Amino acid sequence: MIKVEKLYKSFGKLDVLKDISTEIQKGEVVAIIGPSGSGKSTFLRCMNLLEMPTSGQIYIDGTDITAGKADISKIRQNVGMVFQHFHLFPHMTVLENMTYAPIKVKGMSKETARAKGLELLKRVGLEGKADVYPTKLSGGQKQRVAIARSLAMEPEALLFDEPTSALDPEMVKEVLDVMKSLATTGITMAIVTHEMGFAREVADRILFLDEGRLLEDRTPDEFFNHPESDRAKQFLQKML
Ligand code: ADP
Ligand code: MG
Repeated sequence: MIKVEKLYKSFGKLDVLKDISTEIQKGEVVAIIGPSGSGKSTFLRCMNLLEMPTSGQIYIDGTDITAGKADISKIRQNVGMVFQHFHLFPHMTVLENMTYAPIKVKGMSKETARAKGLELLKRVGLEGKADVYPTKLSGGQKQRVAIARSLAMEPEALLFDEPTSALDPEMVKEVLDVMKSLATTGITMAIVTHEMGFAREVADRILFLDEGRLLEDRTPDEFFNHPESDRAKQFLQKML
């Protein structure tokens, strides 16, 4: 579903991504791991054009989104993003957060958007919170709303950038559980995470980035048991 070919990204003189090529199949769950500053967020952000690649191609369903005339709004509808810090609209209720873009951007009717929103809230275990404002929610609840809000756009793929890194430890599991159940629905997922247990259990594939290079692209079993690069070995020794 997503094909990345010789992707490079620089910020000024800083080369952040170097020659990254990989493919993510439809329905696949890919965990992106690596040290801080290795380019994980930048890589993720290139996949829905929150960052424009310096060179190389990214194809979504066969369409080159780096070609210039790509419809960015349409790409972001199809490839959603969940951030570390939730990014909920504070002045809207939970349900308004969820129905805003489907109505405005997708032209969904208010009734359909509300019905769909309520159904998604149920799916993330927050059916009672539709009319509450985000400030009244815990971090874990906010992130579950953010996930449900992304799903309301009916994306083909969802990108997660450290979705549990800003959460108190006791709230990490409720978010990972939602993501785990999502992973079984056939949606394509790319997840930047430091949760090694989760990556090992849920991901179909691990991408390991180090200093902007994709050093490993393999199954969790291969990656965790037999990492090839010294960098990955060192990283795992620190993490596990
Ligand atoms: P990671 O998510 O793996 O921690 P990032 O992709 O956030 O890494 O960052 C990789 C490198 O790119 C870092 O050195 C960071 O400072 C730099 N960087 C990221 N975004 C920008 C930006 N918008 N402008 C300049 N430098 C950036
Ligand atoms: Mg990051």
